[in-house]
Amino acid sequence: MNDAVKLELGGDGILVATMDLPGRPMNVLAGALVEGLATLPARLADPAVRGLVLTGGKADFCAGADLDGLVQWTRPEQPFEGSMALKKVLRAIETQGKPVVAAINGHALGGGFEVALACHARIAVDDPRLKLGQPEVKLGLLPGGGGTQRLLRLVGLQQAMQICGEGGDIAVGKALGMGLLADTARDRDELMAKARAWIDANPKAAQPWDRPKFKIPGGDSRSPGVVQVLAIAPSIASARTWGNYPAVQHIMSCLFEGGLLDFDSACVVESRYFAACVMSREARNMIHTLWFQLNAIKKGASRPAGVERAKVGKVGLLGAGMMGAGIAYVSAKAGIDVVLLDTTPEAAAKGKAHSQGLLDKAEKKGRSTADKRDALLARITPTTAYEDLAGCELVIEAVFEDRAVKAEVTRKTEAVLGADKVLASNTSTLPITGLAEASSRPANFIGLHFFSPVDKMPLVEIIVGRKTSDQTLARAFDYVLQIGKTPIVVNDSRGFYTSRVFATYVMEGITMLKEGVHPRSIEVAGQQAGMPMPPLALQDEVSLSLGLHVAEQTRKDLAAEGRTYAEHPGMAVIRQLCEVGRIGRKAGRGFYDYDDEGKRLWPELTALFPPAATQPPQAELIDRLMFAQANEAARCVEEGVLRSSADGNIGSIFGWGFAPFHGGALRFIDSMGARAFVERARELAARHGRRFEPAAIVVRQAETGGAFGQ
Ligand code: NAD
Repeated sequence: MNDAVKLELGGDGILVATMDLPGRPMNVLAGALVEGLATLPARLADPAVRGLVLTGGKADFCAGADLDGLVQWTRPEQPFEGSMALKKVLRAIETQGKPVVAAINGHALGGGFEVALACHARIAVDDPRLKLGQPEVKLGLLPGGGGTQRLLRLVGLQQAMQICGEGGDIAVGKALGMGLLADTARDRDELMAKARAWIDANPKAAQPWDRPKFKIPGGDSRSPGVVQVLAIAPSIASARTWGNYPAVQHIMSCLFEGGLLDFDSACVVESRYFAACVMSREARNMIHTLWFQLNAIKKGASRPAGVERAKVGKVGLLGAGMMGAGIAYVSAKAGIDVVLLDTTPEAAAKGKAHSQGLLDKAEKKGRSTADKRDALLARITPTTAYEDLAGCELVIEAVFEDRAVKAEVTRKTEAVLGADKVLASNTSTLPITGLAEASSRPANFIGLHFFSPVDKMPLVEIIVGRKTSDQTLARAFDYVLQIGKTPIVVNDSRGFYTSRVFATYVMEGITMLKEGVHPRSIEVAGQQAGMPMPPLALQDEVSLSLGLHVAEQTRKDLAAEGRTYAEHPGMAVIRQLCEVGRIGRKAGRGFYDYDDEGKRLWPELTALFPPAATQPPQAELIDRLMFAQANEAARCVEEGVLRSSADGNIGSIFGWGFAPFHGGALRFIDSMGARAFVERARELAARHGRRFEPAAIVVRQAETGGAFGQ
């Protein structure tokens, strides 16, 4: 007997197969589990068996494919054959003539959802947290177990495209409405009872596509309605991905071609596209970073070992402005009591009202309830009294970006905060080691850099000051995980990691403008590069005046240290625009003009910075935007600001949206190889300036064959 799929034949002739892969927290379609599933057709052939209920023995039904195995494949034949082998098993289960029901007790995602789709009926526990769907595309893959073809034949081309092409979770209620589920159940007992009843009622089950005269819902790829969708879907996808995600194109091709073929031929086509995805550089990059490195971070790879894990019960927030109010909300949402302090009761109350606003909106959209809102709001205490901070395990400072104000609140807080507790600053620009000078316990002082809007942004950059202790770092790390965010850990430096590297992207775009590159070409290059927003539009969002202010502050700080400030060539453009009052979006005028209808590039830009007669190729612009960032990230490793490649890659994607298909700013270099990077960076340096001279660490890698790697 296979121990990954446990079998139990009841007196009623119903075989219950429970997936429970030994040694893994979740069921994944690894060798032993697939082998277990492969034994099912023979068991079903037993005349004593009337039908089969397939369920999960862990919290999940089955969470997906085994990515450990998948990345070992080096030749396209391997994913093709692997996918065909799984299909053969699933096909045998659905065609042996007896009813098979998936009793979905928990998440059924990716390959797990495909297994469920190969059953004749699916019944799921009605739990709002339960996730169904095909998220493969998010890692550059597509469902390779027949999922694209079964979905096409269950819900039609348009919905199948959405499910596979966007990869979002499908909630139980929605799946029921779409006809992907036959029924729902209150709990596991009712689930099993309903699955058995379905078998009783359907003694001779067959899949719709195995019945005579089957027709794809909504029509096949030749029918007029579907042809209309097929005519525009690639353009919509292209506008969204700029052709950077081959999996999206392969999914559309799979569904289009599958819609012209019989089920078994369509499955072969799917396996070919699956192999193309698996072998693609994009999938390798995304799996490396968004799966392996992200999981390592969540498991605490960047957290000091040897300090026991702890939870925060009460947190204090100094400053109830945009950031303080946001951090208060995400903390209270995680069940933490919050003291929200500001200079006046009105300011503190306004900070709390931010949570009320978010919760009211969620309730209106049906994502929360009045009870939950009230419970969360009850956890937030607005105040002006420092004594209320007593009993906090952690206090986060989010007052004005001003050293003197921050020093003052640090002293006042430490007067009431327990000596072993942690004080964190959410500063975006001031080095932590300097701020810690105002603290009487610098070992307990740390940076917790949140991003705006706090409730939406997934990353928190933890900044370790020169005197910050491991104990403090561990506390901060645990808190970030506790509120459901992803922590990266970096050493102190001007701009830390994220702001420093992000700035190189925006400044490179702005420099191009000065050189006579047409602003439209610059913006399109940002989008083609896969960045979420083009550089000029992004600087407008951040505000040009803030950029100028930070530059001036840096100049002063460096002068005080006896160092000179090498201004980026793009700064002259920002200064020029600020001088004519074009300070960014908040003023309605920056690189763009803003009004009720939206935004347009300011027409005068081309008068101020006349476009050169010969425009550079887009590929050159894209390389400049990406190499500038990757090179700066490499310098952060070289200078010890970054402590691991995982922090660098995840920080770049989650922090400022570095094109995910590259797998992050350091993976960008690894993926093309250090030698190729150095060669191209030197070309760019010769043409555009010394900032492109490759970081010494990459030059060494090119010489010795190293990489940033894991
Ligand atoms: P904000 O102006 O919206 O809020 C600051 C709040 O601090 C105000 O409510 C103010 O009344 C309060 N405050 C000022 N002095 C105080 C004092 N002595 N005691 C108590 N409260 C006081 O500013 P913000 O955008 O929330 O930024 C706060 C901090 O977070 C800054 O250090 C900023 O650099 C940093 N930060 C901002 C962003 C962002 O996108 N805005 C992102 C990351 C970090």
